[in-house]
Amino acid sequence: MSISKRFAELEHIRSALNEADADPGRIVMERMLSATEAEIAGRRTILAGTNNYLGLTFEPGILEASHQALREQGSGTTGSRMANGSFASHVALERSFAEFYEVPAAMIFSTGYQANLGILTGLLRAGDKVVIDAHSHASIYDGCRLSGADFFPFRHNDPEDLRKRLRRLGDDARGALVVTEGLYSMLGDIAPLAELLEVTEEFGAYLMVDEAHSLGVYGEQGRGVAEAAGILDRVDFITGTFSKSLGSMGGFCVSRHEQLNLLRYGSRPYIFTASSSPANIAAAHWALDHVRSHPELREKLWSNVAQLYSGLKDLGFRLGSAPSPVVAVRVDSHDEAARIWNELLASGVYVNLVVPPASPDGASLLRCSVSAGHSPEQIETIVAAFGEAISRTAFAGACCSG
Ligand code: PMP
Repeated sequence: MSISKRFAELEHIRSALNEADADPGRIVMERMLSATEAEIAGRRTILAGTNNYLGLTFEPGILEASHQALREQGSGTTGSRMANGSFASHVALERSFAEFYEVPAAMIFSTGYQANLGILTGLLRAGDKVVIDAHSHASIYDGCRLSGADFFPFRHNDPEDLRKRLRRLGDDARGALVVTEGLYSMLGDIAPLAELLEVTEEFGAYLMVDEAHSLGVYGEQGRGVAEAAGILDRVDFITGTFSKSLGSMGGFCVSRHEQLNLLRYGSRPYIFTASSSPANIAAAHWALDHVRSHPELREKLWSNVAQLYSGLKDLGFRLGSAPSPVVAVRVDSHDEAARIWNELLASGVYVNLVVPPASPDGASLLRCSVSAGHSPEQIETIVAAFGEAISRTAFAGACCSG
């Protein structure tokens, strides 16, 4: 395709979003007021779509840690760790991750996207086999493609389908890689990790779990869905991000295989990009320590989740089958989703508008992410705004279950 054709194709997508008044990319947070509020189009708006699960971004401790790193280590690293060397703060953060997960190896990356790309392209070569959950994040699909390995999606959260796919690989199933997530970011459902691990082990394959949305949220110590499922010591690779519950930017991988460290010599997304800035690293490190020492934050989060989930359920909205920090409201069409989304914005509530092809199963969603930083009053306001949005529109019956 020529560049001009590509421009035309993109212009078509943009104008369709504009016409539907449904372009999330046009939202500008003109002024951040707190971890849960910003000014958008001049209006004070509650943020219920920013993955700030623990609400740490404005904590005095995280700000002070970042300021101190900025003062003492400068504004940027100006290069990659392989070329320029590591800052002591990168090494210290890796040590903390390894200690937190009780594993011998941890690597950090400049984003969570790069962590998945870095691990998949570092581990896999052309001809290798990788079996991934069909609802996997784009970074997992992209990492598989870039690695040149043969990859096969299995039906979302379906251990029996995983078994079928692995069986079809014959002898190649031994040593293959299986990839899943902990908490899925769009529908807010969690993977049946114990069952998926059982199947993986049955075939002698390796398991990688992306806990981007579940770090700090699930498990007694906040280590994610694998911890909650009691299988943390049997998962081969766990990846995740600093950009959600840790309120910073960056990514990580921890592994029970000490050889993870060898990827430093063969993972291009690790080698050929600048390492994270000192301020980002300091913020992530402060937040990781905070997650470990403040389990009450998770209690607060889960109490907010229960309030939002039951409030929306009582209004008759169609939600996922179990409460989680991602509360996805399912509506019948793209147009409905866009209309409710705009109504919510007009009443000062920001959630995510998720429509095909970005959504799984062709769903049209109003995706809320809950934060420990939300007050009960803010959650009440969010629920009330949803209630008003459906009462003001003609399709109330169509979007709700009862
Ligand atoms: N994995 C999953 C499941 C994600 O949802 C995301 C971000 N949306 C990432 C990885 C990438 O994380 P980051 O924003 O740090 O690049």
